[in-house]
Amino acid sequence: MQPRSAAAAGSDFPYTSRTTCYIEISDDGTVSHGTDAGTYERARSGKSRLFAVWPGNWSSDLFIIDDLDEYARAHGIIHDQARTGLDDHEHQVRWKLSPYETKPNGSYISIELELDCDCTIEDLKTFAGQMRHQRGWDIATSGGWGRSSGQGHTTYSLRVRRKSLT
Ligand SMILES: [Zn+2]
Repeated sequence: MQPRSAAAAGSDFPYTSRTTCYIEISDDGTVSHGTDAGTYERARSGKSRLFAVWPGNWSSDLFIIDDLDEYARAHGIIHDQARTGLDDHEHQVRWKLSPYETKPNGSYISIELELDCDCTIEDLKTFAGQMRHQRGWDIATSGGWGRSSGQGHTTYSLRVRRKSLT
């Protein structure tokens, strides 16, 4: 079977979809399923080749991951401003307790946040990682979050561990 090119599908390729199955073939012929923290480096250095099965749409064809940068951006291994809306810099944030928070002393509280640095939050996981690094914030990424826009401002509703807020 001749693998298709994932690069040809561009950013439409479902790099992070749960149904995408990765197969890594190392240069000694070892086949492993799934990816780990070292997959990108091994594939980039030529120690292995990375393939993926995209079930469904293309009758489960085999793809070769021939655009490793796209793979790495999709997985957050290298920063992707276009995908995340976030610059790789120290964000200028303003926040206050949400007026809808009914338990302001709970371990997680709802806040309203604005970014003064022209970033937009398109990917909460990336923003949470940056804020953990920059300010020690512990932003919940499993639950819901929201955004509302008006009068040139975008306000985000996030849940953050109260004691991590500084
Ligand atoms: Zn920013």
